[in-house]
Amino acid sequence: MLKLKACPRCKGDMHSNRDMYGSYNECLQCGHMQDIEEPNKLVASLAAAAAKKRVA
Ligand SMILES: [Zn+2]
Repeated sequence: MLKLKACPRCKGDMHSNRDMYGSYNECLQCGHMQDIEEPNKLVASLAAAAAKKRVA
């Protein structure tokens, strides 16, 4: 997804991207990268499963 003039550094256009570490926006003009905060659902579900095992 492309966000026009969203870059805080150069007012360039940013597009959202994701890699193994999560989602981020990257500026097409200057290369500025900005992490997108999002809860890690996989880790949360693993923690919940571990907690259940401990109780049982
Ligand atoms: Zn920029």
